[in-house]
Formats: sequence, C-alpha cells, structure tokens
Amino acid sequence: MINPDLDQKDRFQEARETMVRVQIMDRGVKDEAILKAMRKVPRHLFVPDEYVNEAYYDSPLPIGYNQTISQPYIVAYMTEVAKPDLSKTALEIGTGSGYQAAILAETVKKVYSIEIVPELARESAERLKNLGYDNIVIKYGDGYQGWKEFSPFDIVIVTAAAEQIPGPLIEQLAENGRLVIPIGEPSAVQELILLVKKNGKIEKSRLTFVRFVPFKRL
Ligand code: SAH
Repeated sequence: MINPDLDQKDRFQEARETMVRVQIMDRGVKDEAILKAMRKVPRHLFVPDEYVNEAYYDSPLPIGYNQTISQPYIVAYMTEVAKPDLSKTALEIGTGSGYQAAILAETVKKVYSIEIVPELARESAERLKNLGYDNIVIKYGDGYQGWKEFSPFDIVIVTAAAEQIPGPLIEQLAENGRLVIPIGEPSAVQELILLVKKNGKIEKSRLTFVRFVPFKRL
C-alpha cells in the first residue's frame, strides 16, 4: 500500500481529479478501485523534471532512453481489462517509469515487473520504494521469458508492442488469468489483445488500436 503521506494534498490534486473525470470516466472506465488509484498516484513524480507540468495531460510523455510513460487513459483501460482485485498477483512487462506498476499495486495484492533498460529498472525501483510501495518487485531483464519463479499470474500486462505473444507469458498465466498486450509492427498502429485462460484453453479478443514503443529482446 502507498505511503499515507501521499493522501495529503499536493499542488496537482485538482489536475488529477480533472484527468480522472475527463480522460478516464468520460471514456467509460468504471472500476472504483482503479479510479481511486488514478486519483491518488502522483503521476508528476513519475516523469522527468522538465515534464512535471504536463504530467496530467492526455498523452504519453518521454521518460528518457527512447521510452515513454503511457497515456493515463490507456493505463486505466488496460488495468480495467485485466480485472484487478486485492486477491490477485500481476506481472507487468515494461516497468518504464513504474507508473502502471503503481496503479496495479493499488488494486492487486502483489506486482512483479520486468524492465529491459537497466537504468529504468533501477530508477523506478528506487522511486516506488520512496513512495512507500512494498508490494512491487522489479527486476532488470528480458520480459519475454516472464518470471517463472513467481508464476502463475492472474494478470499479465505488457506495455511494449510485440509482433507475437511471447509463449512463456501464456504458460505463466493462471487459470482464469488475463493477459493484455499490444500486438503489431513497431512504429505502426498496434492492436490491444486480451487473452483469457479458461479450462487451460486460451480465448482471444481484440480490444482497440493503440501505439506503444517496441518490445525489445536482449
Ligand atoms: N509501463 C510503463 C510504460 C513504459 S514504455 C510506465 O508506466 O511508465 C515500455 C517499456 O517496456 C520501456 O521502458 C521499455 O524499455 C520496456 N521494454 C521493452 N521491451 C521489453 C522487454 N522485452 N522486457 C522488459 N521490458 C521491455
């Protein structure tokens, strides 16, 4: 759970409220726990200093190393599709700034997150620790292989666009587990895909079009 100090007001409180109302609720996200998390997590602390005043804009932002923090709506939408609850364990591929991991950490029991850029893995682990999260574990590595040691996962969220769904991530999905991943060519529009494991079988649905940074391999 997040550091209670964060419940105190900061100068972006209103910007966060407006973000949730205009960008997220008006577009149909309803899950109360997710809306609460989006109102609470200080997104401005997840972006570089020069972007602090744009942190609550309706867009992704650069976080260095050619990577981006996703648009707030996309974070909320992907989280809702994953159906979080406090009994669940989630795996995220692509920690980036750690923002999506923080939103997940507010809505599930435990979050594992893997990041392929070592500096981002280190910076986001430090940031989340300073914010008081004790239910997020981050490691540097290639998320293609998932994280077998802590599997199976009820939720797998991939925040980089792959050309195919990595097999190990499907294997590490729990029964009734949900995997959300953007699929498509890098630098093109990709499709957000949901996989649900039911009786060991995979049900696939196509959700919407998105644009993510490419899924890399070590
Ligand atoms: N979820 C992030 C968004 C980060 S953008 C946030 O909330 O800020 C996608 C991230 O995926 C980038 O940081 C990129 O370095 C990382 N990435 C790309 N391919 C990866 C891979 N194979 N394994 C782990 N991380 C990967």
